[in-house]
Amino acid sequence: MKFNTKLVLGIESTAHTWSVGIMDFNGKVMSVVNDTFIPDKGGLHPYLVKEQHLNNFKRVIRQALRDANCKMCDIDLIAFSKSPGLGPILKIGAQVARMLGQLLNIPIIGVNHCIAHIEIGRLMCNIEDPLTLYVSGGNTIVSAYESNKYQIFGETLDISIGNMIDMFARDIGLSHPGGPKIEKLAHQSKRYVQLPYVVKGMDLSFSGLYTAAKKLIDSKTYEISDVAYSLQETAFAMLTEVTERALAHTEKDEVLLTGGVAANKRLQEMIAYISKEHNAKFEVVPLKYAGDNGIMIAWTGILRYISEGRPNLLNTMIDPKERMDTLTIPWRK
Ligand code: AMP
Ligand code: MG
Repeated sequence: MKFNTKLVLGIESTAHTWSVGIMDFNGKVMSVVNDTFIPDKGGLHPYLVKEQHLNNFKRVIRQALRDANCKMCDIDLIAFSKSPGLGPILKIGAQVARMLGQLLNIPIIGVNHCIAHIEIGRLMCNIEDPLTLYVSGGNTIVSAYESNKYQIFGETLDISIGNMIDMFARDIGLSHPGGPKIEKLAHQSKRYVQLPYVVKGMDLSFSGLYTAAKKLIDSKTYEISDVAYSLQETAFAMLTEVTERALAHTEKDEVLLTGGVAANKRLQEMIAYISKEHNAKFEVVPLKYAGDNGIMIAWTGILRYISEGRPNLLNTMIDPKERMDTLTIPWRK
């Protein structure tokens, strides 16, 4: 089969999910296949995640090629997540990308995972210049484009919102991922119990809130659903406050909600409310593309490749701690 435009294969490998997405250079999705590590107990152990990705990477690539009805030799560009994330896991994506690039003699391009979450949102929701709230198992970031970069207006100072909810869920005996189960549980209550609300300047801290909620559970003075409800209300109100202040400051007229936690209806409701107050259009990234996926990496790879061309090999080194606000965004000039 002949394709009338070029194809990119995107590899997501920053944490729990190994995902491969194939897309054409016009932004048409051809396929996306995920394999996600789910811990039996505790959090993400890098060694166990790495083993799972190593055992599954080939199957996932093959399935993505089959679903896209193409062969490896039809691919023109490989994009992979080079930052930020867990070092041993980023390395697998980078190594697979390098091997494929060399075997096929095609360029490879490294992509910042956080920027990819925003770019796929702009594409899928057909919006131009949003203020973005990115909430996931690894990140909690409020950002917007300014002065040729995705500036960070607010972020967590300790754990991410998704991680905090997952830890609380584990403490009350719920399996991973805890987010959807806590959302359900919170629905059973309307009794708000005071919990620490920690916004420092434009940044957030969730560890005190987590500890206080855990203490309430241990004290057995409230129903579990009351604590789940109060935890959600407090954490989401903190996120909403910071997002609203960034919106007032940047005067953007679009708000984008993305990351795995974007699935939460109560959070959507709160962010929709402040967006309306500021006359901004509110969009949630379709859930298939809001969590970690290879398509967001593929698309951001295309954008950078078209504007900067083939990178030199040094630019394809992984960088577990790279901040999105250090990178220029040439395709948005
Ligand atoms: P990601 O890291 O972007 O793949 O997102 C995974 C995170 O999203 C995990 O922490 C989940 O618990 C969380 N999550 C998924 N669905 C929901 C939900 N309905 N409410 C809150 N958190 C959620
Ligand atoms: Mg993510």
